[in-house]
Amino acid sequence: MALIGHSPQRTALANLVQEDRLPGSLIFTGPAGTGKKLAALELAKQLLCQSPSPCPQGGCGGCRPCSLFESGTHPDLQLMDFGVESASTDDLRHTLDRLSLKAFMGTRRVTILNDVDMISLVGANVILKTLEEPRPDTYFILIASTPSRLPQTILSRCQKWFFDRLSSQEIQEILKARGASEEEIALAPLADGSLSALEGLSTQQSMLDEVLGAINAAWRGEATKNMRYAQEWGGDKSGMRARLALLRTSLRQKLFEHSSQATSAAVWAHALQNALDAEYLILERHANPTAVIFNVLQSCAQHHGARLQKTPHAESPIIDQLIG
Ligand SMILES: [Zn+2]
Repeated sequence: MALIGHSPQRTALANLVQEDRLPGSLIFTGPAGTGKKLAALELAKQLLCQSPSPCPQGGCGGCRPCSLFESGTHPDLQLMDFGVESASTDDLRHTLDRLSLKAFMGTRRVTILNDVDMISLVGANVILKTLEEPRPDTYFILIASTPSRLPQTILSRCQKWFFDRLSSQEIQEILKARGASEEEIALAPLADGSLSALEGLSTQQSMLDEVLGAINAAWRGEATKNMRYAQEWGGDKSGMRARLALLRTSLRQKLFEHSSQATSAAVWAHALQNALDAEYLILERHANPTAVIFNVLQSCAQHHGARLQKTPHAESPIIDQLIG
């Protein structure tokens, strides 16, 4: 399947390979679920392809290395996933030790370290040692959604490539190519530019319906309902993160839909800011979730519009109230 999105970065990387100017250590950063790993695999395939030059972006697909790559058995590609398997430091050492051997096919070797920001400090030091002694024709692609979790010593040795959120249209294209249902495709604007967010969304359809119902009631100024939802959601710790994310993406969608109506847009922008604050306050600062969520819902009320429009840069009141 052809990759969708991130054309500028992918084209620039492909050109660097063709000109044989690609640095040996790269880090792909940006939000989760936007295709960084797919872009890394596409680059690796091109690096390992042995078609008569120039090797096209994503490999020729016809040579033996390309077919081994496609079947997942290319001996010079190593992929470690720190987010999924919580790979051990021993596994990592083993993977990196293999690089002291000669390449099995051709000359190049590629090691992809996915979700490398989940690695332990010990593991990070193992990686650092390897990056400190670059070898010719040996490529490292590190992938991290939160690169600030990594030591600066690693970051400074890697060329950085940022992969931003996908557009709703790109997400819809990807879903169509995957044969997704109409309902799933309709959710694309709520995906917040991330396919992993969307996968979460479609399994949380009922939660989403509830969040949208709450927002609509809040818009009408139904304070009693706001309190009921705030109490229910505030008491559900396990669903907290997902529900706050749905609240944020739904409010962003409201803002997007009403962007041409200044009064409504002011309300939704303010509510969205409060929802962003709420994620920080509840998840990071352990503020009282019921109080914070109630505040977000209260701020969705239509009747705030005129006041907010007069003071478009009104500070979000919630931070002052809840952090002291
Ligand atoms: Zn090829």
